[in-house]
Amino acid sequence: MTSIGVLALQGDVREHVHALEAVGAHALPVRRPSELAAVDGIVIPGGESTTIDKLLRAFDLFEPLRRAIRDGLPAFGSCAGMILLADRITGGTADQQTLGGLDVTVRRNAFGRQVDSFETDLVVEGVPDSATTPVHAVFIRAPWVEEVGPRVQVLARVDAGRSRGEGAEAAAGRIVAVRERDVLATSFHPEVTGDLRLHRLFVSIVESR
Ligand code: GLN
Repeated sequence: MTSIGVLALQGDVREHVHALEAVGAHALPVRRPSELAAVDGIVIPGGESTTIDKLLRAFDLFEPLRRAIRDGLPAFGSCAGMILLADRITGGTADQQTLGGLDVTVRRNAFGRQVDSFETDLVVEGVPDSATTPVHAVFIRAPWVEEVGPRVQVLARVDAGRSRGEGAEAAAGRIVAVRERDVLATSFHPEVTGDLRLHRLFVSIVESR
């Protein structure tokens, strides 16, 4: 069975473990380098990127994880996880570092300070049937992607016609899901909605290696 690690320092760890198990993968919490070495892919959960960054360094996981992703370990980040996978960020704290892996610039807390959460329906490339049954996307103090490098595939943008409420206007057209090689990231939290299609996509990326 495919073993997928969930970085278990802070954030939506349990939700990702459940979603991965529900699509038939073996999900393992990762807190040490030896646990990282035993998995075929890694999920970096939503939570707080500055906290996860600090804990990665405190647990001596920052360098091993950075190197593993650089050397091709498939990775999937949601929200804070997207921030950690970005090569460049704006709106970070002064000492905030990222693992990198995606040739993108990500803006932290992009939907605006006053917009704690924002929901919309998305068509996501690579997600079967999302044109007819869209992915319901929940954004919580979420980032968006401002710039993508030439090898990055844009999988989803916010569709103004499907969005309502505060923040909808600023969010229109923003990139909220990307993939480069075997690294996948979403601004939103597929782990909280019960829609398993993004986890299935990630598991299929891991399995096809
Ligand atoms: N704003 C958070 C951060 O900067 C991300 C929020 C989330 O993951 N829900 O890490």
